[in-house]
Amino acid sequence: MKEELIDLSKAVTEAEAEHIIEETLEKYDKYVNPGFARLMRFLGTTVEVKTEGPYMYDIKGHKYLDFLSGHGVYNLGYCHPKVVKAVEDQLKMIAQTSVRTVMNKPMADLCERLAKITPGDLTYSFIGNSGTEAVEGALKLARIASGKPQIIAADNGFHGKSLGALSATGRPLYRDPFKPLLPEFDHVRFGDIDALKAVIGETTAAVILEPIQGEGGVIVPPKGYLSDVRQLCDDTGALLILDEVQTGMGRTGTMFACEQEDVTPDIMTLAKALGGGVMPIGAFIATPKAFAPFAEHPLLHTSTFGGNPLACAAANATIDIIIEEDLPRQAAEKGEYFLEKLKRMQDDFPGVITDVRGKGLLIGVEFADEGLAGSMIFELENEGVLVLYMLNNPKVIRIEPPLIITYEQIDFMIGVLYDAVDKYKTLMG
Ligand code: PLP
Repeated sequence: MKEELIDLSKAVTEAEAEHIIEETLEKYDKYVNPGFARLMRFLGTTVEVKTEGPYMYDIKGHKYLDFLSGHGVYNLGYCHPKVVKAVEDQLKMIAQTSVRTVMNKPMADLCERLAKITPGDLTYSFIGNSGTEAVEGALKLARIASGKPQIIAADNGFHGKSLGALSATGRPLYRDPFKPLLPEFDHVRFGDIDALKAVIGETTAAVILEPIQGEGGVIVPPKGYLSDVRQLCDDTGALLILDEVQTGMGRTGTMFACEQEDVTPDIMTLAKALGGGVMPIGAFIATPKAFAPFAEHPLLHTSTFGGNPLACAAANATIDIIIEEDLPRQAAEKGEYFLEKLKRMQDDFPGVITDVRGKGLLIGVEFADEGLAGSMIFELENEGVLVLYMLNNPKVIRIEPPLIITYEQIDFMIGVLYDAVDKYKTLMG
């Protein structure tokens, strides 16, 4: 099956579309960022105009099947009608509020939902606007709650690019130009409990990890690693922060990835899919013990737009849909199907595809080198399939479709990828 190009009722002519693309490129060049403009020209890119379900449509009427989901944002697909309706209804009432002397019901409803769906004793939530902001709050809370300075994170981990989150992010490319970063951040090998043992101690405020490293290249740690980390934190009095910004909201086959190891953090961070792909939102959720300093001083950590009713209405609808449509189960089953097919492909092209790994619908396909992974991204896009590499590991193509993707669409994508790899193999002899 080849996905057909669609005609958006000829909203614009081919010539008009070319003109809009060129004009937008010029604006990127003059007013957004000339570096981005160069990249866009190199990619021969287009302008997006509409999204729906698992599809993105461009200005020329091309239709793309999205296996990227905005790095894990569109778990429900684009513009789920129930999320759109919840936001529209909320918009007619109150859009934004930063009045802290009257109460915000959508935010209170969201915090209740988060307390109910997160594991263990996670109870109190702070609602912000993005993933990196959720991580900032979690790090601040860890330091004040423990009264200690050291934060331990993992090599190749990704937690965002604001200064505190970047201090935890483990990729030198993003860190080095901004040094000195925040003090007392140490990095250890992900998945290696002895490496953590060697660094953790009585000055450790927290260990921050992704349960599965996303941008690092979809790295699933050895079984038992997270429970060992939990134990080590308990033994030393350090807090455990699990960053579920990308792995949360059903992506890896359970509502939160840490549930698969039966591990509960003291603080969990969420963002991306929490807003249903309609509104930007982030959150951190903490146990009453960890949250105590913020309960005592509620103005210590605030945000003008954090907890705004529109974003909270989107998140409330999102959580309900994830439960109603049982998206975590769907992710688990479809992920297994996908992984098996990809592993068979790896067997057919052993020198080209060097690894296939993942959990649920967070899957990484590792190629022999970065250039090859880049060519595959081009080839797939030409055939109407969107994928991208991982920010911390460009040899790995991420396969992260909306959880509503169908088996037929998975088969279609597998076929396109197979042909692209086969073509490369034939070209290289
Ligand atoms: N934490 C993790 C695990 C992420 O994957 C990301 C983004 O990819 C972030 C934090 C940062 O989120 P944001 O881009 O919303 O700031």
